[in-house]
Amino acid sequence: MRILLLGTGAALADPDRAQSSILVTLDNGRNYLFDCGEGATRQMVKANVNPADVDWVFLSHLHYDHICGLPFFVLSSWVYNRVGAPRVFGPTGTKHYVNHLFEDGAFRVDLQARAAYEVRQRNIEAVRPVVTEISPGVMYQDEHVKISVDWVDHIPHDICECFGIRLEAEGKVVAFSGDTKPCDAMVRLADNADLLIHECTFPETFLAHRAKSGVGIYAHTSPTELGKLASRANVKSLVATHFGHFESTSPVIKRAAGNHLPVDLMGPHMLEEVSTDIRKHYPGPLRLAHDLMRIDL
Ligand SMILES: [Zn+2]
Ligand SMILES: [Zn+2]
Repeated sequence: MRILLLGTGAALADPDRAQSSILVTLDNGRNYLFDCGEGATRQMVKANVNPADVDWVFLSHLHYDHICGLPFFVLSSWVYNRVGAPRVFGPTGTKHYVNHLFEDGAFRVDLQARAAYEVRQRNIEAVRPVVTEISPGVMYQDEHVKISVDWVDHIPHDICECFGIRLEAEGKVVAFSGDTKPCDAMVRLADNADLLIHECTFPETFLAHRAKSGVGIYAHTSPTELGKLASRANVKSLVATHFGHFESTSPVIKRAAGNHLPVDLMGPHMLEEVSTDIRKHYPGPLRLAHDLMRIDL
């Protein structure tokens, strides 16, 4: 299988990183999309993947940096001549989100206008996603793939369930954390995985700064914690992703982030600190994600 990290950033618009999105393509050509943040569809096309060939989307949780690319993905793959309805899996609330987007929602006017043409009517089911709201356990299984999910620890559960995932296909295992603090569920999902793709939003020095300045709650995984978790789960390789703009050189991001990030410390050198801290507890193969990183398993 091939894994493409389409987007590796977090909540801010970032000139160097699209938002969370991972595309898994099995050797039989089937595509599975995990999260669909801003930029996901454009990144697919850059990677020479037709979005109309991606029939299956999983949303780990409903933070906008994981879902705001979904309407563009669905609408543009309709115009890219998708055949049939895409399938969307996600936490409770996914139906509400999707049902407010298309023919009865935010893009109603666009759909009325474009669907007036017969050529767009022919595949109108492409804008009628089939949504499944999921619960922990085996979420999906066919003859090619088995996908299990469990609750991870990120947003308060009564606001939104957050899921981590384990994909088994072609005799390999890939686990993906979504967003989470270190948690036992993620260790179980990642148990002996060939590849763990795990969020690692802020470096330790940024966390120390955030703790001192009292900015919000912290529900992510630090590099040191990620190293421990990857070791505990005994994963065969690790990709750290969902970077919280700490390495950005963008003056716009620096100005905007000044009240919650230590702007003077920002820059590409922070990636060095991240990998050093992960390595304190995890000796195996490690990659720090960048957009369009490709991994063949
Ligand atoms: Zn996120
Ligand atoms: Zn989140």
